[in-house]
Amino acid sequence: MPTRSVPFYEYSRAYLDERETLLDIFDVVGKRGAFILQEDVSNFEAELANYVGSKYAVGVGNATDGLELSLKALGLEEGGEVICCSHTMLATASAIKMVGGTPVPVEIGYDNLIDPEAVEDAVNQNTVGIMPTQLNGRTCDMDRLLGVAKRHGLFIVEDAAQALGSRFAGKSAGTFGDAAAISFYPAKLMGCLGDGGAVITNSPNVYDLVFQLHDHGRNVQGEVRGWGRNSRLDNLQAAILLHRLKNYPEAISRRRAIASLYEELLSDIDELSLPVAPNREPEHYDVFQNYEIRSKNRNALKEYLDTKGIGTLIQWGGTPIHQWRLLGFTQDLPKVDAFFKECIMLPMNTFISDEDVAYVCNNVREFHGK
Ligand SMILES: *Cc1c(COP(=O)(O)O)cnc(C)c1O
Repeated sequence: MPTRSVPFYEYSRAYLDERETLLDIFDVVGKRGAFILQEDVSNFEAELANYVGSKYAVGVGNATDGLELSLKALGLEEGGEVICCSHTMLATASAIKMVGGTPVPVEIGYDNLIDPEAVEDAVNQNTVGIMPTQLNGRTCDMDRLLGVAKRHGLFIVEDAAQALGSRFAGKSAGTFGDAAAISFYPAKLMGCLGDGGAVITNSPNVYDLVFQLHDHGRNVQGEVRGWGRNSRLDNLQAAILLHRLKNYPEAISRRRAIASLYEELLSDIDELSLPVAPNREPEHYDVFQNYEIRSKNRNALKEYLDTKGIGTLIQWGGTPIHQWRLLGFTQDLPKVDAFFKECIMLPMNTFISDEDVAYVCNNVREFHGK
């Protein structure tokens, strides 16, 4: 029997760890009967925009909807190609497809995020936009991506589902492109108790369009301005998020401290390759949605940790975008293929203690004969 159990993530704790506070929120909001598009949503949108440093935020049903609405607002239509990373959730590509465009997955660079050079190489006369994923809590080199976008007249929609509070060159993920989507799925950096998301933008035009699209074509005053659908952030979820945003800076500090601990306890193992450590690269402020490492002996490591009560995860079930042949992808991306043979995520969340991290690392070390 293992001496300790470190689950990859415990969904019930997202509720139980602050049950009293949450019950108070349910009560206050419930008594007001404030369920759809009430002040908790608009207050949260204002606080969120303020936190990331964007002009606008719109609460939406989930980040995938947020990406779709952003792409629609930017005029993506049939025949338009949008370049994305192959190392991302299928939702990134599906958002492009659902709006009628064609997702074009490309290679990763040294930090396992989209490679700006690969983006430049993939641009052709049908390309209309770039959709970089700010993956695992790290923001891409946006200087280079904005350079490519500018040279070719392309829009940028950031998939910032995993990157609330992450920064590059002092600016927050989600504020570089024309629009971005953030996810509040329970296990994300700042989760709610169900589905939730937001669109971030500095453009008044994109804001107006996304707002209309997410509420039956109605503008902020409630007047119909065009076609729309329904993808609103629940007011109750917004009230929970408003509360969670207040404590969010501490949550980030904790995640960065855990990443530093992993770095300290694992960096001497040659068979592993770790993510860039916090403070290693001055331009990047990473918030560690995940701690994803590469291991030469990944499957055996996963099995070994499992016998020790340690939960790990292989991202996206082990399938990057371009390997979905069933969905019509034909690209050949050897760097991403190699990455997906080795990648594995260690526990990274605010529920685990330093002792838990030490237990995980001791077992990883033992596996490698250290
Ligand atoms: C979680 C996630 C999404 C989807 O977010 P939802 O809010 O569940 O729609 C999209 N892209 C990435 C990179 C994600 O991690």
